[in-house]
Amino acid sequence: MTLFLFVMTLALTSQEISVAVFYEKKPQGVTITIQKGVYLVYNDYDIIDTLQIGNNISIIKESDYLVYRHKTKAWATNKNIRIVNNTDNAAFFINYSGSIEPARCYEGWIKVKLHEYSVLAVNYVNLDAYVAAIVERLSTGMASEEFFKAQAVMYRTFCLVNYAKHENEGFDLCDGTHCQIYNNKSTNRIIINASKKTSNLVMVDKYQNLLNPVSHLNSGGYTAPSEYVYGVSEPHLKSVKDEFAENGNNYNWKILIPAAEWQSYLINKGIKSAENKLYKQLLIVQQDERLNEFKIDNETISLNTIRTDWGWKSSLFSMSLDKGVITIIGKGNGTGVGLSVESARTMASKGFIYDNILKFYYSDIIITNLNHMNIYSEMLQKVRKEKPL
Ligand SMILES: [Zn+2]
Repeated sequence: MTLFLFVMTLALTSQEISVAVFYEKKPQGVTITIQKGVYLVYNDYDIIDTLQIGNNISIIKESDYLVYRHKTKAWATNKNIRIVNNTDNAAFFINYSGSIEPARCYEGWIKVKLHEYSVLAVNYVNLDAYVAAIVERLSTGMASEEFFKAQAVMYRTFCLVNYAKHENEGFDLCDGTHCQIYNNKSTNRIIINASKKTSNLVMVDKYQNLLNPVSHLNSGGYTAPSEYVYGVSEPHLKSVKDEFAENGNNYNWKILIPAAEWQSYLINKGIKSAENKLYKQLLIVQQDERLNEFKIDNETISLNTIRTDWGWKSSLFSMSLDKGVITIIGKGNGTGVGLSVESARTMASKGFIYDNILKFYYSDIIITNLNHMNIYSEMLQKVRKEKPL
């Protein structure tokens, strides 16, 4: 019975993941200052020091060793240095040698190791805390908790979709755009709670495959199916009619262009028949649904190509002609695929709960707990191996 309870407790704990910080900087060393809590310092798995709030240490690569300095003490080691929190509520500031950026603040614990010609600093952080940090970095302005809960499930899923990207290097994710920018812990209480309340929840299909939670700023009234933008159909990324988009700040846009310029663009893109058409025959009109392509005779161009070539905010637009000038009235902002962030905010403010919001934009998804999935025990084992106990 005791064993059973022990296993149950572990299964309900949120996961820890490892993120290499200052990964792209390839630093020669790091400095760490304890922000809160008590930390124990290990040379590999042997305790060598204790750090309290305000204590400041450095770990610098000197030839084939890491040199650890705290006040007047110094140790050299060719093993990993682990600085592990001894209390739950703990955080530290970290910066790298020669940095002109402000120090970052992270929760959890850190391992510093020699890595080719630099040091590698890996932050082991509770998955919910990591997810809150990502949601906070990507969110602007206030929103209700249900919006942030939807975002937390999305970015937790995204994190696990990318989970194995750095497997060969011995950590899960990096802190750059390659994985997801992670440059500080979250300090927003609503976001922290939203992540905790959705702890371990992720989006999967009926075969338990994690789903890529694609999103954009504003759908303009209709989301786009994935094949319009990515060329591949994804069952969870279908087009939906989105009446919530209208309230967003990015619902409308308008641009004027000379019709002659539009005609030469089409000809340059290989639509030869555009040459013999009247301007009014070259107008794209989208009503009540999104089109994938603009077709003249038998030649086509995708609206997503037009959006990226011209730098227009969306591919949902309609054209009208007046005296040689085309007026383009556009709706929405972004690819249009997946969840419309501004609409999701509106839904949350109208009282929709997070799983209804997610299921509105993502078709046929299941929101499940990570501990029902194989990846869970894999994650647990990895962290157990690393963490000195
Ligand atoms: Zn990465």
